[in-house]
Amino acid sequence: MDLYEYEARDLLAGHGVPVARGAVAATPAEAEAVTRGIGGPVVVKAQVKTGGRGKAGGVRMATTPAEARAHATAILGMDIKGHHVHRVLVAAAAEIQQEFYVSFLLDRAERRFLALASAEGGMEIEELSRERPDALAKVAIDPATGVDADVARAIVAAARLPESAAGVLVKLWDAFVSADATLVEVNPLAQLADGSIVALDGKITLDGNAGFRHPDHAAFAADPGRDPREVEAEAKGLNYVKLDGQVGVIGNGAGLVMSTLDVVAEAGRRHGGVAPANFLDIGGGANAQVMADGLGIIIDDPAVRSVFVNVFGGITACDQVASGIVDALRILGPDASKPLVVRLDGNNVDAGRAILAEAAHPLVTMIDTMDAAADRAADLANAGA
Ligand code: GDP
Ligand code: MN
Repeated sequence: MDLYEYEARDLLAGHGVPVARGAVAATPAEAEAVTRGIGGPVVVKAQVKTGGRGKAGGVRMATTPAEARAHATAILGMDIKGHHVHRVLVAAAAEIQQEFYVSFLLDRAERRFLALASAEGGMEIEELSRERPDALAKVAIDPATGVDADVARAIVAAARLPESAAGVLVKLWDAFVSADATLVEVNPLAQLADGSIVALDGKITLDGNAGFRHPDHAAFAADPGRDPREVEAEAKGLNYVKLDGQVGVIGNGAGLVMSTLDVVAEAGRRHGGVAPANFLDIGGGANAQVMADGLGIIIDDPAVRSVFVNVFGGITACDQVASGIVDALRILGPDASKPLVVRLDGNNVDAGRAILAEAAHPLVTMIDTMDAAADRAADLANAGA
C-alpha cells in the first residue's frame, strides 16, 4: 500500500526525521488557515499517489495566506496523471541549498535491502539512473545489521552526501523497519541555508502482508482518492486494479490475467490503439455470484467498451464457469450492456462451450483461442468508440 506524502511525512516525523512544519488541507480556506498558522512563505502541494507533481503544476510557492488559498483553489480538483487531487499539503517553504536523493527498498532479486542515494536529488530517479548512473550510489544492506551509524557513513561517502545526513539516514532506516515498509524514498532530502537536513518529500510503500502487526496502518486505507470500483471490488473479495484502456478483462488466476493483459495490449495496437481497462482475477472458485460481481464492476466502468472473459478450467471446470457466466448475465439483466468475448479452455471445455452455445446470449461471442478472442475484443472496443 502506497501512502500519501502527508502520511509519509507524519510517519517519518514520528521516527525523528526532520520535516517541514505544516498540515494537510481539504479546502482553500483550510489552506489559508494553515498558512496563517505557519506565519511565513509556504509550499502548497497536491496530494496524489504519483510522482512528477512539480512538473504538473501541483507544487506552488505562496508568500501570503491569500496566495496559498488561491493556489489551493487551483490545485484541489486538478487531475495529475489520472489522479484526482482531494487534498493539499501546506508546508513551511524551505530555503534549499542543495537537493539529494535517498531511498531504502526491498531488493527481492538479491534477497536483501538496498540503499540508493545521490547528491543529485530533485530529478526523477528513473531519469537519473538512466542518464547519470554513476551519480547514483547503490549500497547493499545486510538485513541482520541494518543501517547503523557506520553503514550510514558508508552510504553518505558513496553518494557524496554531506556528513550531517548520516544521522537522518539512521532515522529513515528506523522508520523503514518499524513500519514494515518495502520502500522509503525521500526526494528531495534537502540541505537548507542554515545547514540543516530536511526531508521535503516522502514516498512510502507499506508491506500489506505485515498489516496484522500494525493496526494503526488501517487508517491509511481509508482514502477518498481511491478508485470507487477498486473499493467495491475489495469489499467483494475480488482482486481488481483499474487501468487506462477500454477492454475489460476477467480471468481466473493472476498469471493468466497478466498474460491476457499482454495479449489484449498487443491486439489493441492493431485496433485503433485500445488497451486493457483493468486487471481482474476472479480466482479459482468462479461461481455465478463471483462472475456477476466481477462483470458488474467492469461493465459499470464508463471507459469499458468490450469485455474479454478468459478462463482456463481447472478445479472449477469450464461447465461451472459457463453456467456462472449465463447466470451472471441473468443477474445483471439490462445492466449487462456491453459485448462479451468468452474464451474457455481446460477441464470440461466441451460441456462449457455447449452451455454458452445453448444460452445464445446476444452479447456473448465465443472464441476458442486466446489470441483470436483478444483480437475480437479489441476490435469490438475500437468499433464501440
Ligand atoms: P514531486 O515533483 O512530486 O516530486 O514533488 P516534490 O515535493 O519533490 O517537489 C518538487 C520540487 O519542488 C522539489 O524538488 C523542490 O525543488 C521544490 N520544492 C519543494 N518544496 C520546496 C520548498 O519548501 N522550498 C523550495 N524552494 N522548493 C521546494
Ligand atoms: Mn519529489
